[in-house]
Amino acid sequence: MATKNKTTAKAAGNNSEDPNAPLLSVKNLRVWFELRRFGFGNAGFVRAVDGVTFDLHEGEAIAIVGESGCGKSSLMKTILGLNTPTEGSIVFKGRDISNFNRQDLEWYRSLIGYVQQDPFGSLAPFMTIERILEEPLIIHGIKDKEERMRRIHKVMEEVKLTPQAEVLPKFPHQISGGQAQRVVIARAMILEPKFIVADEPVSMLDASVRVEILKLLRDLQSSHKLAVIYITHDLSTVRYFSERIFVMYAGQLIEKAPMEALLKRARHPYTQALLAATSDPDANNALHYKDVPPGEPPSLVKPPMGCRFHPRCSHFMEGLCTQDPPEVAPEANYLTSCWLYDPELEVKLAEAQR
Ligand code: SF4
Repeated sequence: MATKNKTTAKAAGNNSEDPNAPLLSVKNLRVWFELRRFGFGNAGFVRAVDGVTFDLHEGEAIAIVGESGCGKSSLMKTILGLNTPTEGSIVFKGRDISNFNRQDLEWYRSLIGYVQQDPFGSLAPFMTIERILEEPLIIHGIKDKEERMRRIHKVMEEVKLTPQAEVLPKFPHQISGGQAQRVVIARAMILEPKFIVADEPVSMLDASVRVEILKLLRDLQSSHKLAVIYITHDLSTVRYFSERIFVMYAGQLIEKAPMEALLKRARHPYTQALLAATSDPDANNALHYKDVPPGEPPSLVKPPMGCRFHPRCSHFMEGLCTQDPPEVAPEANYLTSCWLYDPELEVKLAEAQR
């Protein structure tokens, strides 16, 4: 950043950086919310995130894919420092964010851009676009108006929010949905973040602008060497810029794989089901899975024992699938949590059914 306030500089100075370490390292993360019944105390826990582990490297784009209610939004909010982990850790540039004080959190959040799902819902309706883009700069101590305007014009150019002179004095209700999402992206980029969390960034947009916005995010990711966590329920959109895909089901990451490998040959029956439910306007991207499972995602209060997908799985194996599945690598860099790929499946199945 060209200008950095005292708080930011101090917090950044506390960093113990290993050049080879991931930018973000999430380990065995659990985020459980207590259920309280009036007058009866604890009524159990919602296990929104239940043992999630992954690394994100500088400049890397990953997608976290799953149905609504699978825990991906709780995971994202915890990464943003808005939820407190129940167990496990989130380490950013070598430092556990659970130990951050207010100044550290301010520094951390200045390095994360957040693109929300609903552009109009996330833009203050009483503020002009100029004010919306200026506010993060003011909050983070950039006092010089000329410097703020220089950055605003630069970021508007990058997100192709034009004509600038016409857009800046407008209020959010006076611009289109596509322009509003460009404003949200511009606001996320204005502090020159190290990584972006994009939460369903195109799901509320018309089909005609979805691809444009996804391509814009991809261009920004590559030109700024940004790390991106893209959260979506829609596998058809991940091909636009994700390098790895993590599939989330009932609070757990059940498949982690390079994008091309997963779209070519998904292993986990749930991922295959998600792909079956995917439509893509591009005929070249047609997918070939047709086995959509019946049923609903399970309760996060009392998830099924063992493999959480087992009540819906047509490959269910008695005695085995009610035990936690191993994380297996059917090919390089590809991890799936499913008994079907255990190298000793036959022996273990015979033992379980004895
Ligand atoms: Fe299906 Fe068993 Fe694999 Fe779970 S572990 S996805 S129930 S085959």
